[in-house]
Amino acid sequence: MTDRNADLFERAKTLIPGGVNSPVRAFRAVGGTPRFVQSAQGAHFWDANGQRYIDYIGSWGPMILGHGHPAVLEAVQKAAVDGFSFGAPTEREVELAEAIVELVPSLEMVRLVSSGTEAGMSAIRLARGATGRKKIIKFEGCYHGHADALLVKAGSGLATFGNPTSAGVPPEVVQHTLVLAYNNVAQLEAAFAEHGSDIACLMIEPIAGNMNFVRASVPFMKRCRELCTQHGALLAFDEVMTGFRVALGGAQSVYAKLIPGFEPDMTVMGKVIGGGMPLAAFGGKRAVMEQLAPLGPVYQAGTLSGNPVATACGLATLAQIRQPGFFDALAARTRSLVSGLKAAADAEGLPFCGDSEGGMFGFFLLPELPQHYQAVMKTEGAKFNNLFHGLLDRGVYIAPALYEAGFVSAAHSEQDIAETVAAAREVFRQLVR
Ligand SMILES: *Cc1c(COP(=O)(O)O)cnc(C)c1O
Repeated sequence: MTDRNADLFERAKTLIPGGVNSPVRAFRAVGGTPRFVQSAQGAHFWDANGQRYIDYIGSWGPMILGHGHPAVLEAVQKAAVDGFSFGAPTEREVELAEAIVELVPSLEMVRLVSSGTEAGMSAIRLARGATGRKKIIKFEGCYHGHADALLVKAGSGLATFGNPTSAGVPPEVVQHTLVLAYNNVAQLEAAFAEHGSDIACLMIEPIAGNMNFVRASVPFMKRCRELCTQHGALLAFDEVMTGFRVALGGAQSVYAKLIPGFEPDMTVMGKVIGGGMPLAAFGGKRAVMEQLAPLGPVYQAGTLSGNPVATACGLATLAQIRQPGFFDALAARTRSLVSGLKAAADAEGLPFCGDSEGGMFGFFLLPELPQHYQAVMKTEGAKFNNLFHGLLDRGVYIAPALYEAGFVSAAHSEQDIAETVAAAREVFRQLVR
C-alpha cells in the first residue's frame, strides 16, 4: 500500500525546511512520519491515507468547538463573499473588540493582530514605551512567540530540540530579558530587589501550556502582582493559549476567584479568539493602550490586522462559547479524560499524574505534578515517545512532544473519551512490560 503521508513528507522536505511550516509538526522529537491532514470534522481528522484520528491538538488550541462547526462555517463563508481584506476598518473589528472587553474585565482597550507572536512582541514594546524602562521578566519554559527578545528558555519546540535559545539572536538583544524559574518566589523577589526600577513588565503564562501543563501557584501569582504594583512594572498575562480556553474570562478569571481583586495590567490573546483563522490581540488599561500609534509614540501596525474573514470566525466562535453551561460541560469532559487516563495508568502500575482547567489538560508519566520547567524535564522522553506512537497507531493524536498541553473540544463525545482511554490502557500495559 502506498503511504501518502510519507510521499508528501518526502516532497515537502525538498522544498520546506524540515518539511513543515512550524517545527513541532515535524515529529523530530518522537520520530516517524508526520500525518498530512486531509480534512477534519468535529473531534476527528483524517490523514492523507484516509486514516481517522481523535484530535487532541485542535490546531494547538484554537478549535475549541471542534472542526467545521456549522455556525462558524456559515459566518466565514458569508464574510468571504463580502470581501477578504480591505485595509480599512470594519464593523466586525468593533464587535470583536466589544466582545473581548466585555468578557475580560481587566481590558479597557484592545488591538487586533494576526498571530500570538505579533501580539506578545507588540505588548513588550508597548510596556517598554509606556514605562520608559528596558527590562522584562519571563519564566523558564514559558513561550511567548518567537520574537527575538522573548526567545530565551522558551519551552516546547525549543525545549524539544534542547536549544536554550535560537541562533540569530545576538546576546545584546536579550540582555534586558531576565529569565527566572516558574513558581519560585525567592528568585522573583531577588530580581525585583535588584532591578525593580528598570523592569517594564513581567510576562507570564498563568497556566503554562508550553512545558506541558503547569499552573502558577497562588502564592507565586500573588507575589507577581504585588511586586509589579510596588515597583511600577506592568503585569502582562500571556493568555494566547489559556484565553477563552480554560474559562470564558481566561486564566485571569480563574486567579481572580482565588485572589480577591486580582487582575493583570496587560493581556495577550490568540488561538481561540480566531477560531482557527489568523487572529490575535493584546490589550490593557486605556492609559497604556493610548500610547500606541496613531495616538501615542509606540509604533505597531499590520496589513491584515483585524482581517474581516478572521474576525467573522472569531466572533462566531465566541458566540458559541459564551452560551450558558458551555465551559462547565467542556471542563467536565476534559476532567473525564484525565481521570480516565489516570485510572488506566494506575491499573497498569504506571506512574501518572494529570491536571486540567476548562478545555486544556496535561499529563506526566511522573508520580507528582511538576511545578517548574526543570521538574518537567525529568519525564522520561523515550517512554513518552512510545506512548505517543502507541496512541497514534490506535487513532489517537496527541501532541508529538512531551512539552505540550492537550486540548479537548466541545465536539469530543463520551465515546471519543472512552476510545481514547481504552487505547491508552493498551499502550500503558506495553510500557510497563
Ligand atoms: C501559541 C502561543 C504563542 C504564539 O502564538 P502564534 O500564533 O503561534 O504566534 C504565544 N504565547 C503562548 C502562550 C502560546 O501558546
